[in-house]
Amino acid sequence: MKKVTISLETVVLGAGVAGLVAGFYEKNSTIIGMKPLGQLDLPFTPGPRLIQYNLHTARFVKDVMMGSENSSYTAVTKKAKIGYEENGIVSDIYSDEFKEKYSELTRGKNRTKTSSYMSEGRESVRHIVFVDQNGEEVEESYKFLFKEVLRQLRINNALIEQKVIAIDVTNNTVETEHYIYKYKKLISTLHIDIFRKLLIHNSHLNHVLDMMYMTNKFDLKNKNFWKCTHNKQDLYLKKSYDYIYSVDGIHSRRTFFKDYVVLEVLDKNIAESLIGREIQLQINDVPLQMKYSFEDIHTLLAAPSNIEFIGRYAEWNHKIKLNEVLNKVYARK
Ligand SMILES: Cc1cc2nc3c(=O)[nH]c(=O)nc-3n(C[C@H](O)[C@H](O)[C@H](O)COP(=O)(O)OP(=O)(O)OC[C@H]3O[C@@H](n4cnc5c(N)ncnc54)[C@H](O)[C@@H]3O)c2cc1C
Repeated sequence: MKKVTISLETVVLGAGVAGLVAGFYEKNSTIIGMKPLGQLDLPFTPGPRLIQYNLHTARFVKDVMMGSENSSYTAVTKKAKIGYEENGIVSDIYSDEFKEKYSELTRGKNRTKTSSYMSEGRESVRHIVFVDQNGEEVEESYKFLFKEVLRQLRINNALIEQKVIAIDVTNNTVETEHYIYKYKKLISTLHIDIFRKLLIHNSHLNHVLDMMYMTNKFDLKNKNFWKCTHNKQDLYLKKSYDYIYSVDGIHSRRTFFKDYVVLEVLDKNIAESLIGREIQLQINDVPLQMKYSFEDIHTLLAAPSNIEFIGRYAEWNHKIKLNEVLNKVYARK
């Protein structure tokens, strides 16, 4: 049976952080995405997920909370304190060798510039959290915020939860299992290789993306996250630190939560006894880390002017967090 074609103004592909932000701010837009919240919806928070404070994130939080039905939460800022562990000693500062070792352990190469990893080498990060009427902090403020964005988008019928099966940039259509959507403007937040594979017709964009794929591949390195009970040292250290980077070889980072600690484990086959904690849950082989980043994918792709790419995997740039997505979205306003 021939699929019905529905005309839309702006179509946003993907409903993770980037898609939800784009859909929240873009006028007359509709998000088409499966598995809303994307990477935010892992079985537990895999590490520090911080709404890093600046004027843009403060504005975003305000805009979202204005539409919230729940007025019992207030946004406040606090500092997340970062530690660095080498030879069993945790400190606020780290050496140049630390950076090299960390880069080798986690990226398998020697890189001394701290740019998009190890929290850019900072001692602390100011971020926004939500507290309830009793002053109790919401443990996953980042996810809390995005669940609220999702709720509002659903109420406004701005989200179509369907899988995209084809994108035709020549005829300006996006096809799902049920319908064909005709767009005037397209914003893709999909992983760039998913986007590449969904493209039909032999457009200029297909050629450029295929060339990029042949030279670079769009592979992601897997990461392993283990949720564990605190050991004695954790209980002591969590009084001073929110998360700690380590070059001691077992895990590269531990993040303290109220009742548990999450380790970013370097080798998922490591003997569990070496962890020194009771393991509650493991998520292994999560494809997260890109080996290289593009500075500006738009220039490289020379895509049609009605197509935009937003987000870490759509722009293939590991630096992209919520802040960078907001910078881009607000720059257009
Ligand atoms: C461990 C970790 C810690 C982080 N910490 C921070 C932090 O502290 N601060 C910060 O600001 N950022 C942080 N980030 C970054 C931020 O969360 C990411 O930028 C974000 O998770 C990626 O969002 P995204 O929307 O670009 O992609 P995704 O979350 O991958 O979303 C893409 C969406 O597209 C959907 N999709 C895929 N294929 C299709 C299809 N064919 N049809 C329809 N839909 C499809 C997927 O289901 C998904 O919902 C962190 C990320 C990770 C992984």
